Amino acid sequence: PQSKLPALGTTIFTQMSALAQQYKAINLSQGFPDFDGPRYLQERLAYHVAQGANQYAPMTGVQALREAIADKTEALYGYKPDADSDITVTAGATEALYAAITALVRKGDEVICFDPSYDSYAPAVELSGGVLKRIALQPPHFRVDWQAFAARLSDKTRLVILNTPHNPSATVWRKEDFAALWQAIGEKEIYVLSDEVYEHISFASEGHASVLAHPQLRQRAIAVSSFGKTFHMTGWKVGYCVAPAAISAELRKVHQYLTFSVNTPAQLALADMLRTEPEHYRQLPAFYQARRDVLVNALSSSRLEILPCEGTYFLLADYSAISGLDDVNFCQWLTKEVGVAAIPLSVFCADPFPHKLIRLCFAKQESTLLAAAERLCKL
Ligand code: PMP
Ligand code: GLN
Repeated sequence: PQSKLPALGTTIFTQMSALAQQYKAINLSQGFPDFDGPRYLQERLAYHVAQGANQYAPMTGVQALREAIADKTEALYGYKPDADSDITVTAGATEALYAAITALVRKGDEVICFDPSYDSYAPAVELSGGVLKRIALQPPHFRVDWQAFAARLSDKTRLVILNTPHNPSATVWRKEDFAALWQAIGEKEIYVLSDEVYEHISFASEGHASVLAHPQLRQRAIAVSSFGKTFHMTGWKVGYCVAPAAISAELRKVHQYLTFSVNTPAQLALADMLRTEPEHYRQLPAFYQARRDVLVNALSSSRLEILPCEGTYFLLADYSAISGLDDVNFCQWLTKEVGVAAIPLSVFCADPFPHKLIRLCFAKQESTLLAAAERLCKL
């Protein structure tokens, strides 16, 4: 058939993980932990399966989970969304992002995103007939220039997509960024899709700044999160989004025909987990900061230049001192010849990306990180 997405290939994450497997390389490319999530969560899943909670969940998500999310949101961001009208449980954050974009973006609407940007946004915008306007952020800090941002707005701007903590740059937005965003869009009918899947992995001293903590912006926003990141269970594919009732109603129209509803026993287990072990996510910044530091320290004698890392479980490294290859070819070479798989940064950018940067995932056991660093230090 004639392709609706002719320029699109297989995601870089799938490509690099496959190459890592083929060459038996240490896989620091695709973002997933090489350790297991909490025992308690696994036990609760088995419990709910044994109890017979094995039929369709309600379309919007099981009540206990939506209520636990509402309470967690209030505890963290000082705002309690309505569990019935404002919270929708989705098949991972990926589904939430797709449903949000499909619900909001009409043919010809302009959508602003910041490059480097996560790979699932652009195809969803394109399939909805939207026009993506990408604003390129610059290393090492990847901060938004709010004047330049305001200059990109037009009468057609419908949606702004942001991601904090940011994959792949590992930077985080400050409260001031949200204030500047509101100042730029407040008078216009522009919506905000805030991808906060790493909300519990911020190393900034002020913690995670959520769009949900901004009283005006949250009236226009869909905030997206993922239990896969928070509980080390990327394979469970359960996420959620929070948005005011009117926006949620539109999003649910898409969600109900995309997946209808999400794995019932997993939702019940996650509700138990949120209620019983909130310490898990409260300790997550320290947990991941320790892993980040293991990798940074182990690479200190390498010729890689490590960029600042304020959040997520990714670290950027500049390899200009090692190779003149472009980043895609460097990552192939690194996987095949050195035995370490990483992600090239240019794939997250539309414009030519002149930097020599790769992304390394540190959601790994210490032994994995040290083994990878040993290989990288020989370069
Ligand atoms: N957004 C970002 C920025 C991500 O890094 C990821 C996962 N890697 C997702 C969305 C998708 O999350 P999920 O696995 O829950 O679909
Ligand atoms: N989001 C993960 C990453 O950035 C990958 C998710 C996927 O493979 N689709 O590595």
